[in-house]
Amino acid sequence: MNENFIQSSLRKDDTTFEVPLRPISLDQFVGQENLKERLFIYIGAAKKRSDSLGHMLFSGPPGLGKTTLANIIAKTMNTNMVVTSGPVIEKAGDLAGVLTSLKDGDVLFIDEIHRLNKTIEEYLYPAMEDFTLDLLIDSGPNARGVSVKLNKFTLIGATTRSGLLSSPLRSRFSFNARLDYYNPNDLKQIILRSAKILKVELENDGAISIANRSRGTPRIANNLLKWVRDFAQMENKQSIDAKTVNAALKLLSIDELGLDEMDKKIINVIIDHYSGGPVGINTIGVAIGEEPNTLQEVYEPYLIMKGFLKRTSRGREVTKFAYEHMGKKFPIIQES
Ligand code: ADP
Repeated sequence: MNENFIQSSLRKDDTTFEVPLRPISLDQFVGQENLKERLFIYIGAAKKRSDSLGHMLFSGPPGLGKTTLANIIAKTMNTNMVVTSGPVIEKAGDLAGVLTSLKDGDVLFIDEIHRLNKTIEEYLYPAMEDFTLDLLIDSGPNARGVSVKLNKFTLIGATTRSGLLSSPLRSRFSFNARLDYYNPNDLKQIILRSAKILKVELENDGAISIANRSRGTPRIANNLLKWVRDFAQMENKQSIDAKTVNAALKLLSIDELGLDEMDKKIINVIIDHYSGGPVGINTIGVAIGEEPNTLQEVYEPYLIMKGFLKRTSRGREVTKFAYEHMGKKFPIIQES
């Protein structure tokens, strides 16, 4: 029914829903224990020295909490956070405008930092290292360089594709962390917390059922919860159990492993049209009418993590498990 549910779940513009649910302190931030421990030390030490934080890079699939962490960090450091994103900064002037507006200790959050244009990246290096901005004013014979002193800021970069970051940029971050998909238990806790905030009466088995279908992603978990809440409201159900959750999620065509129609389409296309692969990501994109970038950032990581898909040097291949999950016969000659 709703084949783009996952993708629309991963958009960040659902402000009415997102804002109250976003954890505002590390204590409220569920899961990612190792990362939280590192953050406690990193932030605690900087505070003890009354120093600002070094630059930080968060990578991982969308919806796992990169923006949330940046907000928490700025709040814990008692500073403002200025938010922008890689594709929005088109010219050196755009970057200069943002950087010169920063006050001492401010956090600059650049989402999708891997999409920064390479020329802009060059301007960012001295800004990150020495807090200076070297600009070229005028062109031709009148061209001259000026060096602008910046306030000491903390750059927090977020990326869904850390592999696309140039190594000079990557090496300028002193704190580098990858966020992993959440386990069902952490997701259950996130869902129960959100249910409480939204004043939804959610039973334990209902929370587990949503957690199992949330693709390890808090943003999807929250959006599924919202959908289930609406469904229960229309069915006049006071409290939500697993049965209600299952009925609600059936309407979104999300199966028991969290696969939606697009995931199934990807697997089916590889099996039916390309004998299970290998096949290139661009070809899959054309076959199902989706951007290769979206496939790589949104769908593929989960399919690989769950063992449906393999990435090989010759392209993508589905596994025996994928055939079985789709109720299809695995060809004997093919290796899984
Ligand atoms: P990203 O920046 O990685 O795309 P966000 O930080 O925007 O993801 O997180 C999406 C939403 O998921 C947040 O608004 C928040 O409600 C929820 N969320 C993310 N991580 C957590 C967490 N660890 N605990 C509780 N809620 C979380």
